[in-house]
Amino acid sequence: MNKKRDKDEYLEQLWSMREKNVNSVEELKKELHVEFNAQTFQELIDDNMVETDDKSQTIKLTDKGEKEARQIIRAHRLAERLISDVLGEEYEAGAGEFEHTINPELVDGICTLLGHPRECPHGRPIPEGECCKRCDKTAQASVVPLPELEVGQSAKIAYVQCKSDQQMHRMDGLQIRPGVMVKLHQKYPTIVIECEGASIALDNEVASNIRVWAKDVIEEAGGQAGKGGFRGFGFRHRRGRR
Ligand SMILES: [Zn+2]
Ligand SMILES: [Zn+2]
Repeated sequence: MNKKRDKDEYLEQLWSMREKNVNSVEELKKELHVEFNAQTFQELIDDNMVETDDKSQTIKLTDKGEKEARQIIRAHRLAERLISDVLGEEYEAGAGEFEHTINPELVDGICTLLGHPRECPHGRPIPEGECCKRCDKTAQASVVPLPELEVGQSAKIAYVQCKSDQQMHRMDGLQIRPGVMVKLHQKYPTIVIECEGASIALDNEVASNIRVWAKDVIEEAGGQAGKGGFRGFGFRHRRGRR
């Protein structure tokens, strides 16, 4: 049994409970993935991580506990993002391990790599890290929104941020999924991309939720677009515009 891990679990659930506007000990017992242990709970209070109010029978994170929980939640949700979008679903069980072992610098590195995603695949908010606040000025993100490509450039999809399962299905049906090469054909008046040989029009918001690797962007000229299995090479767009 790992005490630190158990405590992390309490903190994590208290953070999630706050998102759902619940704050009772009873609720915590229900949410925990480990057996509720009165001693562990008392230690969190003694460590000044958790505060209880006997009168209202409520519990909440202290500032100290909140800081700790924020880091755990951030690591967990970024791990989910990384796993579901980049590695694939079969690694999903690993997300719970990851949050306990990873250090904050590495978490920021992953966040930057993923282009500072704002939500986990379940649609829950990922707490901002220092990297997110700094990003637009200093850090060069490895993953950028698709519309940031120039017309004619191709890049590989890193992940697709979807609002709903329905949207995810639609994107998947269009072959818009991680690892696939897409080419930006047109930006105005609508965004048109080429994906797996098909020409697809997307509204701006949807296109922005498609994140591509900023490295390995392939220019149209030089005939290199065939790299990375880009099957649509040679497709001629009706009216090219720059
Ligand atoms: Zn999640
Ligand atoms: Zn970030």
